[in-house]
Amino acid sequence: MILILKEDTDKNGDEYRRLVDFLSNLKNVESRVHYEKGAEKTLTEIYLVGDTSSLQFAEMESFPCVDRVVRVSEEYRVLGRHHDDRRPTHFDYNGVRFGQDNLNVFAGLCAVDTPEHVEIMMRALQEHGQVCTRMGAYKPRTNPYSFQGHGKACLPYVFELAGKYGIRVIAIEVTHDSHILEIREALEQTGQPTGVMLQIGTRNTQNFELLKAAGRQADFPVLLKRGFGITLEESLNAAEYLASEGNRHVVFGLRGMKTNLGDPHRNFIDFAHVPVVHRLTRMPVCIDPSHSVGSRDASIEGIMDIFHVTAQGVIAGANMVLVDFHPVPSKALVDGPQALHLDELAYFLEDIHIARQGYEQRVELARAHFAAKALVG
Ligand code: PEP
Ligand code: MN
Repeated sequence: MILILKEDTDKNGDEYRRLVDFLSNLKNVESRVHYEKGAEKTLTEIYLVGDTSSLQFAEMESFPCVDRVVRVSEEYRVLGRHHDDRRPTHFDYNGVRFGQDNLNVFAGLCAVDTPEHVEIMMRALQEHGQVCTRMGAYKPRTNPYSFQGHGKACLPYVFELAGKYGIRVIAIEVTHDSHILEIREALEQTGQPTGVMLQIGTRNTQNFELLKAAGRQADFPVLLKRGFGITLEESLNAAEYLASEGNRHVVFGLRGMKTNLGDPHRNFIDFAHVPVVHRLTRMPVCIDPSHSVGSRDASIEGIMDIFHVTAQGVIAGANMVLVDFHPVPSKALVDGPQALHLDELAYFLEDIHIARQGYEQRVELARAHFAAKALVG
């Protein structure tokens, strides 16, 4: 059960105290307070966990500081969608909105290699009206002898260049909680020229200590990639770890599943799960066409598979596209063969725009269909 308190509730006032006293006297019910920070106001939510079956809606609603009561199912308490749930399905970070109702593109380098390539990439993004990018600094590699990323050494120039080119959010994968600290320090040193979305990759989806560390901090939102060899439910529970520690600003990333049945793609594309994640949770959903497809193969019309699967995710309502680009793919230190080229950026963005319009038209069509049905029946 979740108690959503009235906006102006005074935490030192009598009404709040009365509620807290009542809750602390309940047997086998634990309460956790969450603060839902919005652009203008902060909402307070009290999550009641344990044996809440005997609690009556009306009784809880009778406390003057309680605005609404939501009965939650066991699954995904914070991030899930529950019966009569009107909690937000978006959040704002560094001037960018992340919601189930909009779309951001994060085109950028799989791995940072040189300052020159970072600058060329960011300049191109600005020229195309983009304010988000991806820049890998800590790379989890299958082979221990492969390039592992420049780590914290590259962060200062990445952040400064982001500031120079108006980039507001950079997705950066972290594989250890010390990386969060390094990112925070580099942002402070460079004067906070940009923002960072911490990315937790598919190899770390169930690294619970990393999830807890990313969940305990409130500075950065988190992009959690689904695990490539576990169920969707297990991955959504991993996302809930972040929220249960206090950070609800989570985007859920689909990036394909590991199975030989996925051939000829690097992974079996799972973008049919975009509307499923929307239905089950309040998280915006990201798709990663680069790590799903893993090549620049094209269909007979000449449209690359990366474009096709992006369109499939976007036309189903995806809210974020994470995609590898590189100014000189032959020189990329990681994943060059799947990178899109800079002269394909405008084309890629336009193709996404077409798919997004298709999605919006489909939503309108569905609304009209159900409105007409409601009139008749
Ligand atoms: C990445 O986005 O660079 C990456 C390694 O992705 P994933 O964790 O999905 O493999
Ligand atoms: Mn990669």
